[in-house]
Amino acid sequence: MRAFAYHAPASLAEAVAILRREGPGGRVLAGGTDLLVQMKERGTVPRYVVSLRAVADLSHVTFQTGRGLVIGSRASLTDVITNRDVRERYPIIVESAGLVGSHQIQNLGTVGGNICNASPSADTAPPLIALGAILRLHSDQGPRELPIAEFFTGPGRTALEEGEVLAEIIVPDPQPHSGGSYERYTPRQEMDIAVASAASFVILAPDGTVSHAKIILGAVGPTPLHARAAEAMLVGKIPSGGLIEAAASAAVSDARPISDQRGSESYRRHLINVLTRRTLTRAIESARG
Ligand SMILES: Cc1cc2nc3c(=O)[nH]c(=O)nc-3n(C[C@H](O)[C@H](O)[C@H](O)COP(=O)(O)OP(=O)(O)OC[C@H]3O[C@@H](n4cnc5c(N)ncnc54)[C@H](O)[C@@H]3O)c2cc1C
Repeated sequence: MRAFAYHAPASLAEAVAILRREGPGGRVLAGGTDLLVQMKERGTVPRYVVSLRAVADLSHVTFQTGRGLVIGSRASLTDVITNRDVRERYPIIVESAGLVGSHQIQNLGTVGGNICNASPSADTAPPLIALGAILRLHSDQGPRELPIAEFFTGPGRTALEEGEVLAEIIVPDPQPHSGGSYERYTPRQEMDIAVASAASFVILAPDGTVSHAKIILGAVGPTPLHARAAEAMLVGKIPSGGLIEAAASAAVSDARPISDQRGSESYRRHLINVLTRRTLTRAIESARG
């Protein structure tokens, strides 16, 4: 492997100062479960690496009513999965983060790394988009906030600018009568990545109609995709088996799958129909309590 410089700052301020000073060609290292594999197996070795391992001010997972859930970008997937507030209030995050790799991968890997790696099959991305998460990004110029829905620009590409670090993921407070669900299809039960995935999130009005619906599709486009036709079909209606079937069929039209060794285009479209129907059914059941 080509030699590279390794920096281990103790704070976020120090990390962004290093990125500013060293300039282009650097990569941030969180858990390393994507980056180190890319460096070792694909030979994509950056000029320098800025590790977040010693950055204590990014390891938090906190919930406060009115502020929502804040996940520091250094918190491991295990920190998130085992957090009591996340388990009680955001089960869809536990569902998706719990699918990533194995316990070993979850102990090292982070939600932030899963997002910043921007794989179309990243498991935590569709649920976080469905929940309306906001990303707090930091550079040496200070912080800015960006809806996660605007973060993904292509496979492996994001709206992160030169010298920026993802600091926190902020998920709004859970709403009453809301429910969400995530499911992916993998040929193997474990240690596999999604051939297709779907996250559904709904809020019901007091009269039982859908007041808000988000359906996000994974691994069937260059970035996670909104199933907008299906979302529009649900809002203002009382959910029924027929409506869910119709929304699942509509979601297929928003998918843009490719054919590859893991699945053909038509198979992925079929999966989107099934996964949308299942996740929407569970999300509505959960919103009804
Ligand atoms: C065996 C194995 C199984 C896996 N299974 C799955 C799976 O089932 N589902 C799935 O979605 N993924 C899977 N992955 C991929 C990986 O584990 C996850 O994407 C993980 O969440 C990455 O987190 P990390 O902290 O290790 O990221 P890293 O490898 O440290 O970083 C990933 C990328 O994000 C950038 N980055 C990280 N943090 C920041 C930050 N704070 N600011 C700016 N840029 C940042 C890095 O520069 C790099 O480009 C698997 C990986 C392996 C090796």
